[in-house]
Amino acid sequence: MFAKFRVLWIRPSGLVLTRTTATDRYPMHAGNYERWMAIAIDQCERAIAHQQSPFGAAIVSPDGHLVAAEHNVVAARNDPTAHAEVMAIRAACQALEVAKLRDHWLVSTGEPCLMCASVAVLSGVGAVVYGADNQFIESLGFKTGGVPCEEVFRQSAADIVVHRGVAQARCEQLLRQGSRR
Ligand SMILES: [Zn+2]
Repeated sequence: MFAKFRVLWIRPSGLVLTRTTATDRYPMHAGNYERWMAIAIDQCERAIAHQQSPFGAAIVSPDGHLVAAEHNVVAARNDPTAHAEVMAIRAACQALEVAKLRDHWLVSTGEPCLMCASVAVLSGVGAVVYGADNQFIESLGFKTGGVPCEEVFRQSAADIVVHRGVAQARCEQLLRQGSRR
C-alpha cells in the first residue's frame, strides 16, 4: 500500500520539478546559441534561394564544433522525410561514422516537427535549440504534426533539453519569405 501511494504522489510533481534547461545542463554553451543559429539561418537562406521550404538545421558536437548543416530538400528530392533536421542528423552521423549523436546539439530555425523530434530521440542528441515555434510554422501553412517537440521528448522519456526562441524574429521572417513563393 505504501509503495503504491508513493508512486502516485511522486509522478505528477516529478515530471514538472525535475525538468532541466539547456543552460542548466550545459552552462559552458549558454553564449553560443546565437552563433550556432546563424549557421542554421544561413542554411535556411540557401533553402529559400533554391526554392525549398524555409528550414535550416545544424548539428554541433558536445564541445561546440559544427559537425553538419543542411536545409530542407523535400521538393528537390520528392522526399517528404527530407526535412532540415533529418538531413543534418543524417549528414552528421555519416561524417562521424556513428549511428548515435549522444550529447550533440540539434540547432534548427524551426521547432522540430513530429517526425524530426522522433528522429532526434532516435539519434540520441542531448539538446535542441530552435527559433520559430510550431504554432507560427503552422500559421503559414507548413505541417508540423501538431505536437510540441518537448511533448514528443517527454512521451519518449528522452533526456533532451530544449532552448527555444533563439533568433526567433529572423527565423519567422525567413519562414514568411519562404512561404510566399
Ligand atoms: Zn521535421
